[in-house]
Amino acid sequence: MTKTHAAAKPARPKAAFFSFGSCEGCQLQVLSSEDVLLDLVAAVEIVNFREAIDERRDDYDIAFVEGSLVRPEDIEEIQQIRKKAQILVAIGACACLGGVNAIRNRRPTSELAKDVYGGRQDGVFKTLAEAAPLVSVVQVDYEIRGCPIDRTEFLESVRSLLAGTTPTVPPFAVCVSCTMRGTACLLGRGIPCLGSVARAGCYAVCPAYGAPCEACRGFHDAPNFEALGDAFFRHEMPRTLAAEKLQLFNNFKDIREQWEKHLPSPSIT
Ligand code: SF4
Ligand code: SF4
Repeated sequence: MTKTHAAAKPARPKAAFFSFGSCEGCQLQVLSSEDVLLDLVAAVEIVNFREAIDERRDDYDIAFVEGSLVRPEDIEEIQQIRKKAQILVAIGACACLGGVNAIRNRRPTSELAKDVYGGRQDGVFKTLAEAAPLVSVVQVDYEIRGCPIDRTEFLESVRSLLAGTTPTVPPFAVCVSCTMRGTACLLGRGIPCLGSVARAGCYAVCPAYGAPCEACRGFHDAPNFEALGDAFFRHEMPRTLAAEKLQLFNNFKDIREQWEKHLPSPSIT
């Protein structure tokens, strides 16, 4: 959900990047595009970015935070970041939704640890009971969604934040963008696509290349999950498949609650 924020006061605000449970792919999106990086460096002074610089300052105005909260110590760390930052921006599906880390939330951690580590799990790791999005613990001023984030959207959002305005996010479904691109609907080919419930802003790039939408940007303002299940059924795909696919990015409790009452229970794997 987009929230209002206080504009950063300094002429060239200081920005920091942090990472919790993630593949760090969203930070790589920023780093892997030189034009975006140069524009970013011109707009803000980067004082902490583990993947890019050695400096580790904590006098930042804007914190860009990737990843979901997965370890007990993550709670205090994100609270500290929140205290220091005037603006906290969640970047990517892990930070905004729980993302792929939250797939594990349907089973007790002890069960999963037993499966993965057998009898050797004691002391190997400690995790929170559920992998969680940032907003479940701290106030998030803005979210840049996607897995990974889109570089252009990232830079446009930064420009907007620096101008003291709230970046806009399309309220409609990926299907709208898909139709505007002229892509033939994948459902007709028996490909299970979640675009009708997914929030746009990605220019429907996956369906354009023949890959189904996985709702990595979460849901739009008025998703109809029953209609999604019906559409799957009409195209000879089980309604349970829609629920199974929704688990990939949208499995954190209050997000999961939005869809699970409308669709048959997915199998737990
Ligand atoms: S949102 Fe996707 S690309 Fe970004 S950190 Fe999470 S898994 Fe990686
Ligand atoms: S391919 Fe997916 S996103 Fe595109 S119109 Fe069909 S259901 Fe919607």
